Amino acid sequence: MDTLIDSAVKVIKKSKYTTAFTGAGISVESGIPPFRGETGLWSKYDPQVLDLNYFYSSPKESWTVVKEIFYDFFGKAKANDAHIGLGILEKKGLLKEVITQNIDNLHQEGGSSIVHEFHGNSNMLVCTSCSFKDKAEHIDMSRMPVLCPKCKSLLKPDFIFFGEGIPPLAYQKSINAAKNSEAMIVIGTTGEVMPACQLPLLAKDSGATIIEINPETSKFTHSITDIFLQGKATEIINKIIKKIV
Ligand code: NAD
Ligand code: ZN
Repeated sequence: MDTLIDSAVKVIKKSKYTTAFTGAGISVESGIPPFRGETGLWSKYDPQVLDLNYFYSSPKESWTVVKEIFYDFFGKAKANDAHIGLGILEKKGLLKEVITQNIDNLHQEGGSSIVHEFHGNSNMLVCTSCSFKDKAEHIDMSRMPVLCPKCKSLLKPDFIFFGEGIPPLAYQKSINAAKNSEAMIVIGTTGEVMPACQLPLLAKDSGATIIEINPETSKFTHSITDIFLQGKATEIINKIIKKIV
């Protein structure tokens, strides 16, 4: 493993444009389960609660579960050493941008300042009728479904549900970041969620070296990954940081 870490450190030091592409796995050690796998959220909840049509047709049922997963539970999570490590790399000028599929705001809390949220963010709630938008913590969630304090229409978390498009600005910035990458660090993602999973492929096609961190293999491992660092995000990032700074 040490030789592989050394190779990754070498690539990151040499690269003039390193990006990170992260999935649910980077937040697992903050206590947030991923969607898939034995302990994943979908072993406990029905994914239809995050389907856009279901949200509009059964807002009370959808909001009750969304609140439990994303606000009662996610809300208490703190950035871990992997999020913090990426923040340190950015400050050292060794990481330009983070593209994340996560909606938990932990990259920003970990010190990364340029974060493209490919699937939006759970921190903000938006009104489905008027222009109202505010932080979830400012909104009364004691009654389901959660309604707009201004116009009483349905409020929706500002992350994308199944059936919704990628936020255009984050999409464009993520594509540019992938294309500009000389190295991309892919952390904690199965590579199964479309179209996000195409970003590492785009980086690879643009000439990037792909460094992957995951305790398990993913769709990328045997296809585009150049250096596979098998292990938990915090452990591997800590080793990289120790050698690099
Ligand atoms: P996923 O649930 O499909 O897969 C999680 C991946 O993380 C797996 O490859 C697993 O091996 C890996 N993993 C598990 N523990 C890890 C650790 N300690 N360190 C590093 N990797 C670890 O996740 P996904 O591919 O990101 O796709 C699921 C979708 O669900 C994403 O779109 C994401 O937006 C969303 N999601 C987000 C959060 C969050 O915001 N934290 C949580 C759950 C799901
Ligand atoms: Zn409103």
